[in-house]
Amino acid sequence: MSRLVLATRNEHKVYELQQILGDLVDELGLDIIGASAFPGVPDVPETEVTFAGNARLKAVALAAATGLPAVADDSGLAVEVLGGCPGVFSARWSGTRAGVDAPRAAKDRANLDLLLEQLADVPDEHRRAAFVCAAVLALPDGTVHGVEGRVEGTLQRAPRGSNGFGYDPLFVPLGDTRTMAEHSDQEKNAISHRGNAFRALLPVLRAALSPSGS
Ligand code: IMP
Repeated sequence: MSRLVLATRNEHKVYELQQILGDLVDELGLDIIGASAFPGVPDVPETEVTFAGNARLKAVALAAATGLPAVADDSGLAVEVLGGCPGVFSARWSGTRAGVDAPRAAKDRANLDLLLEQLADVPDEHRRAAFVCAAVLALPDGTVHGVEGRVEGTLQRAPRGSNGFGYDPLFVPLGDTRTMAEHSDQEKNAISHRGNAFRALLPVLRAALSPSGS
């Protein structure tokens, strides 16, 4: 059985990627392990200023520390009128507004509220944004493969829906009327930046991890 380690301690993300990579998991008998299975391996600070740079940092460090193929992703929301911000700062956009030790949901809400304030005067036709995800596979021999996935949409003036996380309650994918937080997990995976990035990574994973290497 091939083992693949994911550079996240977030069990929800491990589960989400098991769903997205489902066919490959079956085909290759893949065992997907979260980074929390390696408690001695420290988290890597996201010090780069691009999604691809941060994903690469995390994947390379984890592959080197575990001796296993490692996958990392980095994602966020890029708002057109803000020149692509919050971008790589999406998780930290409101700084310490919610409190340093606040739970993730409270930080997400503070980030969303700040973004709404910043966009208060922006008319509907200029509220374009995209969720972006960079996904990187790093092999223990130092080989690195990177891909990017996106989903384009517009931002609402008030949050709607209770699924998902982060900025999902504001984001309506193009061609839809519901926010991402009004999509089921399966519907979101089918169109999301993360789903698109990991689907683009599938052939690379298949080539790198299949026993024949093909
Ligand atoms: P990370 O890739 O898990 O570090 O996510 C960075 C931040 O981007 C999150 O904390 C959210 O604020 C935002 N983000 C990334 N992906 C999503 C998504 O699928 N929905 C909503 N917000 C997201």
